Amino acid sequence: MENIINDVLKEIENITDTKTLYDVRVKYLGKKGIISELLSILGTLSIEEKKEKGPIINNLKQEVTRILDDKNREIELKLLNEKLKNEKIDISLPSTKINIGAPNILEKLIEEVEELLMSMGYDVVDGPEVEEDRYNFEMLNIPKGHPARDAQDTFYIEGEEILLRSQTSPVQVRTMLENKGEKSIRMICPGKTYRRDDDDATHSHQFMQIEGLLVDKDISLSDLKGTIDVIVKKLFGQDIVTRFRPSYYQFTEPSVEVDISCFNCKGNGCNICKNTGWITVAGAGIVHPNVLKMGGYDPSIWSGFAFGFGAERLAMLKYGINDLRVFYNTDLREVNTFDRKDVE
Ligand SMILES: [Zn+2]
Repeated sequence: MENIINDVLKEIENITDTKTLYDVRVKYLGKKGIISELLSILGTLSIEEKKEKGPIINNLKQEVTRILDDKNREIELKLLNEKLKNEKIDISLPSTKINIGAPNILEKLIEEVEELLMSMGYDVVDGPEVEEDRYNFEMLNIPKGHPARDAQDTFYIEGEEILLRSQTSPVQVRTMLENKGEKSIRMICPGKTYRRDDDDATHSHQFMQIEGLLVDKDISLSDLKGTIDVIVKKLFGQDIVTRFRPSYYQFTEPSVEVDISCFNCKGNGCNICKNTGWITVAGAGIVHPNVLKMGGYDPSIWSGFAFGFGAERLAMLKYGINDLRVFYNTDLREVNTFDRKDVE
């Protein structure tokens, strides 16, 4: 047995490649190899002889296997080291260009507004997109049969009670109810809303609103104006001027439409502002006493304001996009036309 081991050691001594080593392995351990032959002879011996020689041959097999495995590892390691030694890395070569993704432009804009308002003490609140009629309409002072519902052509899911929210305002109602008329509220609820609309460059059956609600004591229109002013200056530049125009919504009284001075022409008139020098960006107002009451807040103690921006409209203005379908499109040829430096 020792002879066989010595033979193996001698044979592999000068081997430097795994192929030749494999041939040696076949010679000793292969189906018709030397050790396999010995094992087959073992089968012809008597039981006593088997007991005596069996363990010896098996030990031999294990030992040869171990020697060959060790040698194999040694060769592989040597080859690897040689390879590493010979491969030089030229760090002056230009690198491979990697295409990196950019944040969705709409998400990016919403995050910007969220961060700003959080720094002013607002919470970002989420709510269900499948909503109950009472939260979406009734508790916002829009009872059944009210003509204001016509303006929000709604997707109903079950009968007249379960719908896809047509505005994010129900989250405001839910937040008021949660606070039980006891605590002041500062919240925004950016999210998806749904209305039956034919999709085109400026309409979509699904769009995003950024709504905010503040409920506290002695809140006035000037508080609202100051807050809106901070948001639009952050988005469009410090020289932007805000103006309120009277408007009408069921859930606010008084209600206003918010215009900003045109960031493009600085008021001289251009196609973005349709030559008026002003661009409408939001609807807002002082929370209607009925809405406060239904939300559990006593209007003789509490007052508040609410505002709502269309996220797509803001992003279209900010990034000069003229088709809102682009936001929901995965066509990179279109997506990449945005000013990436501004987006990244
Ligand atoms: Zn303009």
